[in-house]
Amino acid sequence: MNNSELLNIFEETEALLNGHFLLTSGRHSSQYFQCAKVLQYPQHTTTICKIIAEYFKDFDIDTVISPAIGGIVVGQEVARLLNKKFIFAERADKDLVLRRGFEIKEGEKVLVCEDVVTTGGSVFEVIDIVKNSGADVTGVGIIVDRSNGKVDFGVPQMSTLKMEVVSYLSEECPMCKEGTPAVKPGSRKI
Ligand SMILES: [Zn+2]
Repeated sequence: MNNSELLNIFEETEALLNGHFLLTSGRHSSQYFQCAKVLQYPQHTTTICKIIAEYFKDFDIDTVISPAIGGIVVGQEVARLLNKKFIFAERADKDLVLRRGFEIKEGEKVLVCEDVVTTGGSVFEVIDIVKNSGADVTGVGIIVDRSNGKVDFGVPQMSTLKMEVVSYLSEECPMCKEGTPAVKPGSRKI
């Protein structure tokens, strides 16, 4: 699976939209990415997660963990492919925490999986949970790195796709200058 085959899957499933978008930040962009759109299709989830599982197959891993909600499907599938345990951290008030009886034991080797990373905030939080349990972070596997490789988790990390987030203030937006209207993603069929 090369980059263009992967991009095709994201475009076919409308996970990756090209156009003129008004982002929630108020900025404009020519691309919009919603990973859940591709993960609607289990066969695509398997295809993409195989790339992550293949990368980490010779690493020392006991458990795969993901931040809820976006990462759960990814971590579950990577854990299934590697035949490891899977748990997730979820937000209670402000912080990500382990609930539902999930535990990480001292010395456990843990792989962190996430769907999309932009600043990496949730992944850094999960890394802290693992370290505070006295366990070791084996690595981080991501479907899409929207920081284009700028976020460094300080452990072996890989992403199936790296993308640059290009966005503009409305007054500097080249698509606005061309006169096309900016649309909110999901507000109409593109
Ligand atoms: Zn614009």
